Amino acid sequence: MATQMAIHEDVGTGVHLDALVVGAGFAGLAMQFRLRAMGLRSRIVERGDGVGGTWYWNRYPGARCDIESVDYCYSFAPELLDEWTWSERFATQPEILAYLEFVAERLDLLRDIDFGVNVTTARLVGDQWAVATSGQPTYQARFLIMATGNLSEPKPVDIPGFDQFNGQVLRTSNWPKDGVDFTGQRVGVIGTGSTGIQAIQVIAKQAAELTVFQRTPNYSMPAQNRPLTDEYRAQVRETFTARREMARNSDGGVPFPATRTATFDVSEQERERRYWQGWRRGGINALSHAFTDYFADEVANATAQEFARERIREIVHDPATAEALCPVHHIGTKRTCVDIEYYQTYNLPHVHLVDLRQEPLVSIDSAGVQTTERHVDLDALVLALGFDAITGAMLGIDIRGRDGQALQQAWSQGPRTYLGLMTHDFPNLFMITGPQSPGVLSNMVVSIEQHVDVIGQALAFMATHNYRTMEPDRAAERDWVDHVDDLAAQTLYPQAKSWYTGVNVEGKPRVFLPYVNGCGNYRKKCQDVIDSGWRGFVFAKEPSTVQVNP
Ligand code: NAP
Repeated sequence: MATQMAIHEDVGTGVHLDALVVGAGFAGLAMQFRLRAMGLRSRIVERGDGVGGTWYWNRYPGARCDIESVDYCYSFAPELLDEWTWSERFATQPEILAYLEFVAERLDLLRDIDFGVNVTTARLVGDQWAVATSGQPTYQARFLIMATGNLSEPKPVDIPGFDQFNGQVLRTSNWPKDGVDFTGQRVGVIGTGSTGIQAIQVIAKQAAELTVFQRTPNYSMPAQNRPLTDEYRAQVRETFTARREMARNSDGGVPFPATRTATFDVSEQERERRYWQGWRRGGINALSHAFTDYFADEVANATAQEFARERIREIVHDPATAEALCPVHHIGTKRTCVDIEYYQTYNLPHVHLVDLRQEPLVSIDSAGVQTTERHVDLDALVLALGFDAITGAMLGIDIRGRDGQALQQAWSQGPRTYLGLMTHDFPNLFMITGPQSPGVLSNMVVSIEQHVDVIGQALAFMATHNYRTMEPDRAAERDWVDHVDDLAAQTLYPQAKSWYTGVNVEGKPRVFLPYVNGCGNYRKKCQDVIDSGWRGFVFAKEPSTVQVNP
């Protein structure tokens, strides 16, 4: 209690802290736990009224993880591993949210979180970050740590007339807490990314009629979901340390041995066998784990594409619908989806697919959706349009660094970071799984834990050497941006129209945003930087130029 009062001491310019963490999702909770263990005065601000981040907001029907539950969890506290039980191979949103609530309670983090607080601006004043919110309180902290998430800022709705619709308009990214009953309703869903695909399967079970408006079909792998047995859970617990270590050093943050075989090293028959093996195992990497050149060689990639399209044609009875559902982009270059009988849903008589490539969407009106060919009358409309990913949440806050420079300006041609952790001219501003780090191409929890660890080590290094500020050197930042670009250019990724490149949001610079070379390699790079005495970072003992913005 005494500590809490000290932390809340208001000296007229807000709550004074050593560190302020923005966001109470996976990243924010882990960071706060670390900061507290280091003896720092720190708090989390969170705009929701509960913990969970993306798992707090995305409560749409069917929401689940696409990483196996037993790996989509923290590793830093044994009590969390011992006292939590996952029920299914791929956990549902309610179960993941319950896990994060359990974590917050078990680690006694709730007393450190200010809920319902939306950060609006953050400006550097001397060596302090002055943080304003949409209401009270304001904060001052030496370290500002953005745990704002990669998929937390919904993409603006870019369909004319959506506010004219008389029925219920629902956004998957801000789903009503009490749920929605679609019984007897004519429901429309726009969007067939991971979110739409998950929602469609479940809404179809309730709605009287379901019409899916699809602009781009996506590849979806079967989840092969199942309840977890006690025996399996015990085995995972016993081997967890090794399992997580393998995940940390892998490409995607999952404990799966990397293949050394290229697509055309094997016969066509063997290739087919491996794809079938993956398909039956299921999950996001069902096909991508089969061969080394899946993401880099378009001829190799085409073999996996064709395998996936054959499965769609097999599952979906109506040939025209099956063809409309067949994607044509390089598989994996837009985030692969994971489903539970998604394609089978189109065999139901009350489920209809409208292919917006054949008949573009014109507008939404009071009664439903108008395409160039027809009007579809609806009672409810679900928008699963995606996110202003990776940079959206950071840039949604007016962040001003040295000399009043706006982050929005510094990143106007695309984000500029060193290691996806920090940006030059924004000292002591850290990002957890920021752009140009592996984040979204990996198991987020594994990447989050690594960043939390690096940030923790950085703060400890500063304390030991009496440094007040830390930021990347401009040259190191430039080299990192180039390195990330060069790596991406060696793959098929940048060719796709995906949120990885920002192309899904009008006006957003088209830059490939994540680091593609995998968690393990990225981890080594970070360790190398740390071992070298933080090569590429600049430290200062005096506050930088004092700048107060108007
Ligand atoms: P998304 O992948 O960006 O998909 C958005 C969908 O909306 C696309 O089909 C897009 O079509 C469509 N769309 C957007 N604007 C449109 C418009 N004006 N008219 C018609 N269609 C429009 O977003 P998401 O599905 O929310 O998924 C984002 C990411 O979140 C995923 O890739 C995944 O990383 C994560 N996620 C994970 C899980 C999980 O763990 N299982 C679940 C949900 C989401 P176009 O492709 O043509 O633009």
